[in-house]
Amino acid sequence: MAQTKDLPPLDQFYSSLNEVLVCIQDQEKRFSSQLVELKKREEELLLAYQREVQRVKQLQEVITSMEIILNFSSEQEISESVVKILHKLYPQAAIRFLITSTHPAGMKLQAHAGQLPDQLEACKINPLDCPVIKRGKSWFNPFENKDLFCPKLASIPKLYGHICTPLLANGVAFGILSVIFHSLYAFDHYDAEVINAFSTYVGIAFTNARLVKIAINEAFIDQLTGLPNRRYVLEALQREISRAERYGGIFSVALIDLDNFKAVNDLYGHTEGDRVLVLFARIANQVFRKTDIVARYGGEEFLLLFPQTSLASSIDAVERFKALFNQATLFGALKAGNLTFSAGLVEYPADGKNAESLLEICDKRLYKAKKNGRDKVVGK
Ligand code: GH3
Ligand code: MG
Ligand code: MG
Repeated sequence: MAQTKDLPPLDQFYSSLNEVLVCIQDQEKRFSSQLVELKKREEELLLAYQREVQRVKQLQEVITSMEIILNFSSEQEISESVVKILHKLYPQAAIRFLITSTHPAGMKLQAHAGQLPDQLEACKINPLDCPVIKRGKSWFNPFENKDLFCPKLASIPKLYGHICTPLLANGVAFGILSVIFHSLYAFDHYDAEVINAFSTYVGIAFTNARLVKIAINEAFIDQLTGLPNRRYVLEALQREISRAERYGGIFSVALIDLDNFKAVNDLYGHTEGDRVLVLFARIANQVFRKTDIVARYGGEEFLLLFPQTSLASSIDAVERFKALFNQATLFGALKAGNLTFSAGLVEYPADGKNAESLLEICDKRLYKAKKNGRDKVVGK
């Protein structure tokens, strides 16, 4: 019983207890506010993580699609795929692929996706008036602040931001890739990096496509007339034979040789002879169908391929062309006038089933036309 004497008085005990309780309550409040803070942080981290996962996925998509695009050999194919891929990454944006053109000087909308505001006509300007082309650097504005927009785009209502990056080939800008956000979307430097990386690949793909085009051009086009050359038409003839063997059908071939062409060169000079060949090509391109092939076979000889056309129809077409060519030399600007040609024609499969036999008969009929006085079209 002696111990109770040492205990603090009851009110003192309650007061201490109260202090402890207040202290616990304080701690509890602090803990719960820290908990709220932690929960918020956790949500933020989760969002950041999700965004990073999304970005890695985006980057993987960009890399995969660019590997595919690097294999394309046509500029149109490249630009259309690029806008499609970017639109998939940024469905809330309008994507434009503009390239510079010299005739007339301006920016040409090569491909686009998403809703483009009318005011984007503002970019159809002299390339040197486009700040991105001029500086060869991206214009990136993620904020809804008109003062920071490219001056060419500032007048567009509901423009929330844009990224315009130059497309470079060997350091020279040949166009721009432009992503325009006309609805609110939180995009940042990361998006600008993705689009920049994209445009670097596009520059390489375009350069490759142009080199392929030049190589094909040199390998298959006759430099004087711009017509397909002998190699091209012989390959086309082989393809036509394979197609007809597999699916059936007919086609015709004509071998044309200018009459007394040596005399044109001798009388008026080689340059005048060249002008005659160019005139022949120009009229032939106007007269024959787009599906027909008119090729320079060599010298003053031309080989024509008429897919799915009978001998009778192709003879008619060559006769019509012969009359027009003769007229053009009579009344055109040439010094050499009243020029004619002779032609030998064959039909597949009636006259031959392979290139060799078809060309041999063609040549024989051409020779017959020459022997019979020239200015003739022979089909038998
Ligand atoms: P034929 O009616 O029998 O065909 O007589 P031709 O004079 O047309 O035939 P020939 O084979 O004797 O002469 C063909 C001429 O074509 C000779 C050659 O100098 C000329 N020629 C070939 N290629 C070119 C060219 O690219 N430019 C010019 N100007 N002449 C060419
Ligand atoms: Mg000849
Ligand atoms: Mg000739």
